[in-house]
Amino acid sequence: MVVVGAGPVGVTAALLLARRGIDVLVLDRHAEAHPLPRAVHLDDESLRVLQAAGVADAFAAVSRPMAGLRLLDGGGRTLAEFPRGAGDHGWPQGSMFSQPDLEQVLRDALAAEPRARLRGGVEVVRLDGAGPVRLTVRDRDTGAEEQLVADAVLGCDGARSTVRGQIGARMRDLGPGERWLVVDLVADTPLPVWPGVQQVCDAVRPATFMPVAGARYRAEFRLREHEAVADLDLDGLLGRFGAAGCTVVRSAEYRYAAQVADRWRQGRVLLNGDAAHLTPPFIGQGLGLGLRDAHQLAWKLAAVLDGADDALLDTHQAERAPHARSLVRLAVLLGRLMTGGGNRAALVRRGVLTGVRRVPRLAAFTASSRTPPLRPGPQVRRPRFAPGSPVGSLLPQPPVEGPQRLDDVLGPDWAVVTAGGPVPPSWPGRVVRADELGSPELVRWLRGRSVLVRPDRIVAAVARRQRGWWRWDRPPNVSSR
Ligand SMILES: Cc1cc2nc3c(=O)[nH]c(=O)nc-3n(C[C@H](O)[C@H](O)[C@H](O)COP(=O)(O)OP(=O)(O)OC[C@H]3O[C@@H](n4cnc5c(N)ncnc54)[C@H](O)[C@@H]3O)c2cc1C
Repeated sequence: MVVVGAGPVGVTAALLLARRGIDVLVLDRHAEAHPLPRAVHLDDESLRVLQAAGVADAFAAVSRPMAGLRLLDGGGRTLAEFPRGAGDHGWPQGSMFSQPDLEQVLRDALAAEPRARLRGGVEVVRLDGAGPVRLTVRDRDTGAEEQLVADAVLGCDGARSTVRGQIGARMRDLGPGERWLVVDLVADTPLPVWPGVQQVCDAVRPATFMPVAGARYRAEFRLREHEAVADLDLDGLLGRFGAAGCTVVRSAEYRYAAQVADRWRQGRVLLNGDAAHLTPPFIGQGLGLGLRDAHQLAWKLAAVLDGADDALLDTHQAERAPHARSLVRLAVLLGRLMTGGGNRAALVRRGVLTGVRRVPRLAAFTASSRTPPLRPGPQVRRPRFAPGSPVGSLLPQPPVEGPQRLDDVLGPDWAVVTAGGPVPPSWPGRVVRADELGSPELVRWLRGRSVLVRPDRIVAAVARRQRGWWRWDRPPNVSSR
């Protein structure tokens, strides 16, 4: 199959597919990875995707845990702080990194993967058919065109996706676009700053400042509608964060959009990552969304290429688009709350944030980027009356005895995780007994239940005790495993 786009989402998807035994050709219009830093933050759920792709330890070596989010008013006073630490997923709740470092880690892994091949300097210009798919590909040096045929195509070709246009999909706006100046800095000596993300909640000049990794720092300033970058007093703005003496390694203007595609699939042509959604930066989740797309789609695509019914691919948009829409809307809302309005809005903001930080559960929720539970569907058998059911949510990844992590113990396929509950009759897959893993957290989380876990670690079904009997809530169809 062909992946269009060798950005972080495309290469992660290619690794996940190749690790499932699929031969993958990745095409990109550029010979090298995008050199400019863009994403700087990933959460622990995203790290689990990198773990599945076999690169989480290499990523950990080029990233560092993030301390949390601190909201400041225009005068630099702290309004609220949301700390980040160890999470439920076996990785720090937030990690800071430079996107080119991540892309290098991913490309190194791809180069070592015998089933995957990357071809740079070629642009996909046209798709015909929906499976098999004929791709027209243009060499960027010579202009020569050639035709390739693929049994499936994954469009990971970013914000201006050609694949999206070819399947007739359109982006739908979920909020206004905004212009921001993004400045990357290097300091000779470490700056005495808080090791988390500082967000200045100020309607006049909203700004963000954060240490990235090593000697690198990132500052972002919202630009007014007709303001030119050249008119800004950059030294003065950086001085507010004690960063006036740093070397500016790049400064670029971005227009952030809040958009989700209205269609994510035509036959065996599917969209992932920025090709399917674009989010404002407030919760640092654009790439995180795309990595989740790749994780939740790779096993389905591999199953279909292995003979499962193509209807399995219907669940891609059905499962991922609601998450993308809710996250983009949340980013727009938080952006308004943090940076909107005049003096009255600043007073409301102070009041709301004081309330939020006084209620620990609300504070944890505000800072959380947890994937919301998937809606019930063919691959998610949620019981009708079971509040608090884990079905549709990610299985946590608490520590287990030994050198492996829980996801590695579960293996790449469907698995039953049990704490003494039942296993479906004639279950062909792996059964993992929590009490034998030396993980009291997992045993506690299971509360005596058995859960059926999909390859992307989402709980698909749970066995419940009913009138003294254990019963599975309609586990998904065996043919789609
Ligand atoms: C300033 C900034 C800060 C950000 N911060 C964060 C953050 O902290 N956390 C976070 O999660 N996200 C963040 N993001 C978003 C994140 O960078 C993107 O979501 C991510 O890069 C998307 O990856 P992708 O692989 O989908 O697309 P891209 O990285 O855009 O890759 C697309 C690839 O497709 C190739 N391509 C395009 N068209 C074709 C074609 N026709 N044929 C062949 N190849 C093609 C391109 O050359 C490119 O290599 C930030 C973005 C910006 C701009």
